[in-house]
Amino acid sequence: MEDVVRLNAVRKVYGNQRTGVEALRGVTIGFPRGSFTAVMGPSGSGKSTFLHCAAGLDKPTSGTVTLDGQELTGLREKALTILRRERIGFIFQSFNLLPALTVQQNITLPLRLAGRKPDRARLTEVINRVGLADRRKHLPAELSGGQQQRVAIARALVTRPAVIFADEPTGALDTHTAREVLDLMLESVHRHGQTVVMVTHDPMAAAYAHRVVFLADGQLAGELRNPTADTIAERMTHLGAWADRSRTEKIGA
Ligand code: ADP
Repeated sequence: MEDVVRLNAVRKVYGNQRTGVEALRGVTIGFPRGSFTAVMGPSGSGKSTFLHCAAGLDKPTSGTVTLDGQELTGLREKALTILRRERIGFIFQSFNLLPALTVQQNITLPLRLAGRKPDRARLTEVINRVGLADRRKHLPAELSGGQQQRVAIARALVTRPAVIFADEPTGALDTHTAREVLDLMLESVHRHGQTVVMVTHDPMAAAYAHRVVFLADGQLAGELRNPTADTIAERMTHLGAWADRSRTEKIGA
């Protein structure tokens, strides 16, 4: 299957090349179109760095990242901003909604930032899909956490991005609401052929994915296909040091 996003030998060093922290140590991986991948690993293993590099939010120190065959790593900031806006959706743990804007205004923000007029039919479709038709005019503060995350998902879907990057999207939600949000992401994969890459520490959330890839100490440390919460939890115990920020633990997988 064709890869929408590819990372090739991606290294990321924070700070000085010689004395800095090597957060990613040569990561090579592809994400096929219409796939749902969860990225897991202990604290400090490089998950956020990985997501930021893959999404063009941060530049690798070396190596390349391509989106639909186009190399992000060679683009200037302006071209990268446009590409991110048009081809990539983001969902964060903290929702990142603008408090003064209504649900509808938050959802259409990426389009307006791109100077595009929101298409009425598309907007209605997206709002209906996330079940917020009767909340269009509400402000984020008037919504529950789950509803706010559904606004963020609608915002990530409205531009029909090729790939959606999600950073702990269910981290602030209760189990029931988390499942609703995960179902929505899975639906965008199965029905609309979008590609989802989700960082999570939660085996239940990761079990929604087709594949779980494990990071340890800035390197890939194996993967699971068609995972279950049990097989994921099993693997996690082998990787060890899930709560340890010190990055001293070595790969056990
Ligand atoms: P994770 O998301 O798995 O917790 P991160 O990608 O946040 O891991 O961090 C990987 C490593 O890089 C850690 O050792 C972290 O301390 C370091 N790191 C992350 N961001 C920065 C930064 N901006 N400056 C310096 N070091 C950083």
